[in-house]
Amino acid sequence: MRRIFLIFVLLIGLQNSAFAQNQKAISPEQEFALNNSIFVLYHEIAHLLIDELDIPILGREENAADNFATLMLLRADSEQTNNALIDSAYGWFLSSENNEQDFYSDDDLYGEHNLDIQRAFQIVCLMVGRDPAIFSEIADEVGLDEDRQEACASDYEQASTSWDKVLAPFKNEDGAKIEVDIKYNRGFGLVSAGNLLRDNEFFENAVINILQKYNLPKIPSMRGKECHEANAYYDSWTGEVLYCYELVDEFIEAFRKNETEE
Ligand SMILES: [Zn+2]
Repeated sequence: MRRIFLIFVLLIGLQNSAFAQNQKAISPEQEFALNNSIFVLYHEIAHLLIDELDIPILGREENAADNFATLMLLRADSEQTNNALIDSAYGWFLSSENNEQDFYSDDDLYGEHNLDIQRAFQIVCLMVGRDPAIFSEIADEVGLDEDRQEACASDYEQASTSWDKVLAPFKNEDGAKIEVDIKYNRGFGLVSAGNLLRDNEFFENAVINILQKYNLPKIPSMRGKECHEANAYYDSWTGEVLYCYELVDEFIEAFRKNETEE
């Protein structure tokens, strides 16, 4: 598995770019944290859309939400979003390496999410399924064999057309600006994590890239804050997407830890 990490780091290094033009320069670990956070945020937005629009889901909602996040990033089709996908797959491989080393416990197996390593492979599968010219090298390096890479094309097609079909009735056809209630609470212990999200317009970009495209029954709310846990979630009771600054910190720590182990 170590081999995979080295390759990912190399690819990230080659494609390293400022996260967004006009934004402050950020360090590699901040970029990694931001990219993984974008994937997590898109995943939570999928839960919001599923709940608010009453989207039917066949299979596990967590898998559908991961697919949605991957599709949205693939469709954005920029160097920045491709890096976000590479970093996110790397993040799940890293998490698997750290948490799922020798055996899987029952709660890993009966949990609502797939195993971290499966989540990593599924991201890469959809990447290569959409665009083998760009992503087959990465798929080769992580060990997706040729047959599976070819089959990933239909996985991508199915996920893509399924999401389009269920979201079609809710398209914001006239492009009217939608209101979103965005707040970055002041961090106390984790000021730089909060600043990283705010300075890079973390929620605002997700509104432009996703929420703006749909008519939603009520004004969505997105909040960054310290929560005393490294987590992010959609709260169906309040209709709010919450992103905890602790999770940004956890991604930064994971990146640093892996760097020092090389
Ligand atoms: Zn989820």
